[in-house]
Amino acid sequence: MAPEATSRSLLTVLDAEHPEWRPLLVVIKEALREAERPQWARLVPALEHPGRGGRPLLDGAVITVGPRLVGRWVRRILGIAAAAGTEVKPLARAVAAGWLDPLALFESAVSQNVDRFHELSHADTDYRGPLRGLASLIAMPMLQNCRRAWAERVPTGWAYGYCPICGGWPALAEMRGLDGTRHLRCGCCGSDWRTEWLRCPFCSEGEHEKLGSLVSPDSLARQTIEVCNRCSGYVKTMTTLSAIRPEHVVLEDLATLVLDIAALERGYRRPAAKGHEAAVSVVAESSRLHDLLGL
Ligand SMILES: [Zn+2]
Ligand SMILES: [Zn+2]
Repeated sequence: MAPEATSRSLLTVLDAEHPEWRPLLVVIKEALREAERPQWARLVPALEHPGRGGRPLLDGAVITVGPRLVGRWVRRILGIAAAAGTEVKPLARAVAAGWLDPLALFESAVSQNVDRFHELSHADTDYRGPLRGLASLIAMPMLQNCRRAWAERVPTGWAYGYCPICGGWPALAEMRGLDGTRHLRCGCCGSDWRTEWLRCPFCSEGEHEKLGSLVSPDSLARQTIEVCNRCSGYVKTMTTLSAIRPEHVVLEDLATLVLDIAALERGYRRPAAKGHEAAVSVVAESSRLHDLLGL
């Protein structure tokens, strides 16, 4: 089967094999479908800088949005997530009742600022874990469209472990093609950047004594877990013939959850903090007009 066909059917396979993931899959599916709506492509802002010195392209962006589009999207995804039984009911209620501004929530989600997102949600308990996943799904339509518009503008030879578009850590790595070049992939925006074979994306360790890999016995070495004994980080690595479709990196990440469990059981983890800050300002169309007119 062609890799693209495999990716296309991945949602169906995941749905059939893991009914327990269905609530999450429903939300992911909705975020991917939303990313295809042409309205989002029109919201991609002009680049503020060329991405030199390791600054992700999204950092400093000012996104002017139609409050109705964003409000509708935030309410819908929260409603679906709440109905699917995830832990977002208080957040969904607060937005539906008008206590919480969907634009503020959207801004913290696109900036992937989980602390701010958590603060806005007025959660009684610390539930940054589920919120992190939700924030990236709320941001997904915007970030996937930024990646589509900016992929050619990423500085050549981007040598950092985090995403050149949105600053997130890679969801996985690919050992791609017959020559086995190594590419890091972002789950949130789908971005793709080449990296050296022996280099930890999180702490840049390049000494092979400090780097290793855990091979899953039943995967015929198609999937491995690259680990770093300096920072205890890990990256799941898939052998692929051609690139995983950008929109499906999030699904491949989910489909290989068993590797995450294996890595966690051995004391490795993905860093909790974001790779690099990418602060975004979200401005409502009408207030932007007011600013421009000096009102
Ligand atoms: Zn990204
Ligand atoms: Zn490391």
